[in-house]
Amino acid sequence: MTIKHDLPSLKQRLLPQLAELGSSAHLSGVWPLQSYSLGAMNFMIPGEVTYDLQLSNTGGGVLLSGTVSAQVQTECARCLEPALFDVEGEVEGYYLINPSHEELDLADDEFVIVDDSGEVDLAPALLAAIIFETPQVVLCDEDCRGLCPICGANLNEQQCGCQQDVLPDSPFSVLKDLRDLKNLKDSDIS
Ligand SMILES: [Zn+2]
Ligand SMILES: [Zn+2]
Repeated sequence: MTIKHDLPSLKQRLLPQLAELGSSAHLSGVWPLQSYSLGAMNFMIPGEVTYDLQLSNTGGGVLLSGTVSAQVQTECARCLEPALFDVEGEVEGYYLINPSHEELDLADDEFVIVDDSGEVDLAPALLAAIIFETPQVVLCDEDCRGLCPICGANLNEQQCGCQQDVLPDSPFSVLKDLRDLKNLKDSDIS
């Protein structure tokens, strides 16, 4: 899974405002993300990515929670026309303040250390929440008929002549094919 790294940042100052246990802050706004990719799939954001987040000092660090919402556009997996879906992701993050050596050893993708600037970038946590809610297969419609495998016509828009040869006449023709295959195998053996 490859994630595009030229993300718009969403810098947030945690220190000194959230330095004390129990202190918290509420954040909401628009994150100017326009696109992202996952493997070979590209996703566009035609509207806005909005977020509604809570930051709380839980002792030793600041916990990020909340939601991120967007409408996302990609290609339909069957007909390649634009397909839209809505994302409502749960944002999670944890930002360590003055970590001990043991905590430093643990720090990886799950923990981010707040450096001397007192600022962190919330963008990776927002993107992770969007990606987690991105479906692996996106269709323009559940009933999308896709493209004709022979002539490439969009079968949602037209019926091409070649389609009859591709589709089996009835569900039983599949069984017939299996039977033929079995007969073939049997004759191979004998
Ligand atoms: Zn489609
Ligand atoms: Zn066709």
